[in-house]
Amino acid sequence: MDCLFCKIIAGDIPSKKAYEDDMCLAFHDIAPQAPVHVLVIPKEHIPSADGVDTENSKYVSHIFEVIPKVAASLGLQNGYRVITNCGEDGCQSVKHLHFHILGGKKLPENMG
Ligand code: AMP
Repeated sequence: MDCLFCKIIAGDIPSKKAYEDDMCLAFHDIAPQAPVHVLVIPKEHIPSADGVDTENSKYVSHIFEVIPKVAASLGLQNGYRVITNCGEDGCQSVKHLHFHILGGKKLPENMG
């Protein structure tokens, strides 16, 4: 499958890993929009939040168990933001479900 994040999971494209287990991978964003900017992705190809269903939602719940551990390991004790962009209007550029973890400073209130 021609998916950038599947290639990162496979190790065909390098990434700076922050966390990995059998269900998900967290790695630093190549174009950080905050002092800390990490992406967490499921190891199963789910195209977006709009593709979550009863069969694959276990990946999402697992990722949300992992996020606090990743945030703590990145020193985000003062808080952080979790975002997933979905589809055209959500400005999703990579069509593999991913959750942005942003932090390391006081983030702007405006969500667009
Ligand atoms: P989105 O716009 O929500 O689809 O987010 C995609 C994110 O993937 C962007 O923040 C990109 O900077 C990031 N990205 C694209 N290619 C890479 C890569 N090879 N390694 C790490 N992050 C990437």
